[in-house]
Amino acid sequence: TIGANFDKTVARFPDRDALVDRPSGRRWTYEQLAAEVETIALGLDRLGVRKGDRVGIWAPNCAEWVFVQYATAKIGAILVNINPAYRVHELEYVLKQAGIRTLIAAPSFKTSDYAAMIEQARPGCPDLRDVLLLGSDAWHELVESGRAADPARLAEIAAGLGADDPINIQYTSGTTGFPKGATLSHHNILNNGFFVGELLGYDEEDRICVPVPFYHCFGMVMCNLAATSHGACIVIPAPSFEPRATLEAVAAERCTSLYGVPTMFIAELNEPSFAEHDLSSLRTGIMAGSPCPVEVMKQVIDRMGMAEVAICYGMTETSPVSTQTRADDSLDRRVSTVGTVHPHLEIKIIDPETGVTVPRGTPGELCTRGYSVMLGYWNDPEQTAEAIDAARWMHTGDLAVMDADGYVNITGRIKDMVIRGGENIYPREVEEFLYTHPDIVDAQVIGVPDEKYGEELMAWVRLRPGAEPLTAEKLREFCKGKLAHFKIPRYVHIVDEFPMTVTGKVRKVQMREEAIEILG
Ligand code: ATP
Ligand code: MG
Repeated sequence: TIGANFDKTVARFPDRDALVDRPSGRRWTYEQLAAEVETIALGLDRLGVRKGDRVGIWAPNCAEWVFVQYATAKIGAILVNINPAYRVHELEYVLKQAGIRTLIAAPSFKTSDYAAMIEQARPGCPDLRDVLLLGSDAWHELVESGRAADPARLAEIAAGLGADDPINIQYTSGTTGFPKGATLSHHNILNNGFFVGELLGYDEEDRICVPVPFYHCFGMVMCNLAATSHGACIVIPAPSFEPRATLEAVAAERCTSLYGVPTMFIAELNEPSFAEHDLSSLRTGIMAGSPCPVEVMKQVIDRMGMAEVAICYGMTETSPVSTQTRADDSLDRRVSTVGTVHPHLEIKIIDPETGVTVPRGTPGELCTRGYSVMLGYWNDPEQTAEAIDAARWMHTGDLAVMDADGYVNITGRIKDMVIRGGENIYPREVEEFLYTHPDIVDAQVIGVPDEKYGEELMAWVRLRPGAEPLTAEKLREFCKGKLAHFKIPRYVHIVDEFPMTVTGKVRKVQMREEAIEILG
């Protein structure tokens, strides 16, 4: 179980740094972190939280998030990660859908008054017994009560826990629709975190800077579980992503590893103070979550010194990682593919209509099988049956190509593929090309309805500061002869930012809605 694995690390590395919370200036060794975790585990137990009960956590990144993650694992409660960007109706949905008994929340963050939203949602949520606002009297009482409890109680509880028990409900990012609650076991996420760390070569010397949210598997599994299963240290640069604070944290804490979705790395590389930060401690890191542009990967290696940076591909439903690049892959493959299958997992690429495995080099839907596949969507057997087939293959909804050596390229989501005049277009390919334009810092391509062709391509671009406005005509000129004519975007829309999920993914669904309005 996660608790047993954590205890083993604490016993091996009691005096090594485990956690640094930069915004509050606090830090913990493994022994000190274990003490916090046990206190909260015992406090929750005394509150009456039992194995299988759902405990929600609604807070931006902070040390308490990590305490609660391991405390719930120790008592076998199911942690429900709640997106810090949710508004009241979304909160209410999750509280009800997951049947949350105990909710731990930050009182507020930025413009979100969590305390007020919880009070608004509460009447509709009969299962919700306790609300503990971090820093409130109720929270301090929980901590006091945990301190006064007999620690032997934890061994007694541990004896009743199994590695296949559900331990975590994580809602998907909601990039393509309503978020779905993936139910995951100790075995699912602990092993995945461990192997992510193994492939990055983590040990107790590593210090991981984590600007990605803990509420998402990228933070809680690929960072936290990877760190604690190898004795590495977790460094929190800020409660939510800030490029400057991230670079400062890397320099001040001599981080060896840095995580991010592509848009975060783009923001860091374009941060005006970039050159002021000493990033020489960086060795590795992960880019993941959405298509990782080759140009951005190259800059991360060259300008940030992350020589061994990896690309991971996965999804919440598969704990999350299924493929990863390795430091000894060729440079070309490390920047242009999502690597090869993870240890102990299987992947295959199928024709989504027939279900038959396609030949290498042919695009199709990627499917994953093995220990990492979730137990199911919480309380949703129908959606579970749609996603996981009888042979336990998870159908990802992602289009991919596998080459003869097993390297995988994600060409996009099935839902994002554009069909223009009968031609299948993968927006990813067009986006990669647009990145080579000297004035374009970020590009996203979508399909918009068209009477003649069914769909036409529209490029949304962010330009370098001071660049001249880019017209559709000029962009088409740039593409001519280099992209097949049907892949050349008909429309260009210049923006300052894209509509995003909190996990930093571009919401193409929303872009398509806005595009339809723009085009009238
Ligand atoms: P929802 O399922 O609610 O629409 P989501 O799929 O974005 O949201 P996540 O589980 O956070 O929710 O993200 C998984 C998806 O992210 C994958 O299915 C894939 O489309 C995309 N993805 C993850 N890593 C990569 C990568 N390295 N390259 C390309 N796409 C990636
Ligand atoms: Mg998904």
